[in-house]
Amino acid sequence: MSESRDFCPRCGDPVPERPEPLPGMPRERDDVLCDSCYFEDFDLVDAPDEVQVRVCAQCGAIHRGNRWVDVGARDYTDIAIEEVSNSLGVHLNAEEVRWGVEPEQVDQNNIRMHCHFSGVVRGTPLEESVVVPVSIARETCQRCGRIAGGYFASLVQVRADDRTPTTEEAETAIEIAESYIAEREDKGDRNAFITEVNRTPDGPNIKISTNQMGSGVAKQIRERFGGTIEEHPTLVTEDGDGNEVYRVTFVARLPRYTAGDVIDPEDGDGPVLVRSNRGRLKGTRLTSGDPYESEFEEGERPEAEDLGSVEDAEETTVVTVEDEHAVQVLDPETYEAKTIPRPDYFDPDAAMVPVLKSHSGLHILPEEAVDDEDEE
Ligand SMILES: [Zn+2]
Ligand SMILES: [Zn+2]
Repeated sequence: MSESRDFCPRCGDPVPERPEPLPGMPRERDDVLCDSCYFEDFDLVDAPDEVQVRVCAQCGAIHRGNRWVDVGARDYTDIAIEEVSNSLGVHLNAEEVRWGVEPEQVDQNNIRMHCHFSGVVRGTPLEESVVVPVSIARETCQRCGRIAGGYFASLVQVRADDRTPTTEEAETAIEIAESYIAEREDKGDRNAFITEVNRTPDGPNIKISTNQMGSGVAKQIRERFGGTIEEHPTLVTEDGDGNEVYRVTFVARLPRYTAGDVIDPEDGDGPVLVRSNRGRLKGTRLTSGDPYESEFEEGERPEAEDLGSVEDAEETTVVTVEDEHAVQVLDPETYEAKTIPRPDYFDPDAAMVPVLKSHSGLHILPEEAVDDEDEE
């Protein structure tokens, strides 16, 4: 009997010498068994007795680990295959492993997953099949529950200084909020949602899931239109642990004057066509064509008189160009010829020009009266 001869510790049969395990790796107890003892209680596949898949019936999210995740799938069979596949294990000693799963739909909420495995262990080809029953539990995820319950943590109110936001401003503000939240959702943030958009006569009210996102939306609205943001926290409740829970109302107040308005800053140099009111108010002087910029910082309103807007402009006939500073046009109401200031944007070859008549007189408007805000 050679000294290197080994015996199976279970049945005592001699076993051929096994290769030494890799340095640092312990020899598994089962590794010293003879083939027949080894295969006696060998499982190629480690499979759970059953798998339950919790899905949100509203949004299709699935519960994985201890949280809800969006999987972007409506087909629960695919989800069941994935969940079962992730729960299956193959014995580490198996080589040349092949496997597949085949769903058998029992009813709407039950699938029998037939799992087939083959592999080679100790030079012996093995095959094993297991059936894993999968049940689909349709629930409501926390997010859908909150939306359905009208939950929100912040309210963004879009208002304007001493006026009502225009329909265009209101709709643009809503779009800004929707795309801000959609971007968060796309990044997988399940806390991002809009509970409600309410178009009130004073401007839109937008209910948003978190204070932080309400603040972000208000800032983007200010970035687009200028104006100010007011914050009003209100204590709404105490949570289960006795912590105070605040809801914050963010009022995004759009500036009094916006691109296209004509105002008189009352500085003696005549009316100004407003080009932009983000940061400082910027515009064009209608008497000369010179640029105008208010001395006022963001959110402050210069003392000015509202004279109308480019929408009130009318085309009228140029009678004669008098000199560098004056031009004669027909008053669009009375058809009298009137001498008015000639701004540098006036084209001396033009037969017709847009004019605005207000109580500060008749003024020629630039042809391109309103800058596209997005190009700035
Ligand atoms: Zn044995
Ligand atoms: Zn859901």
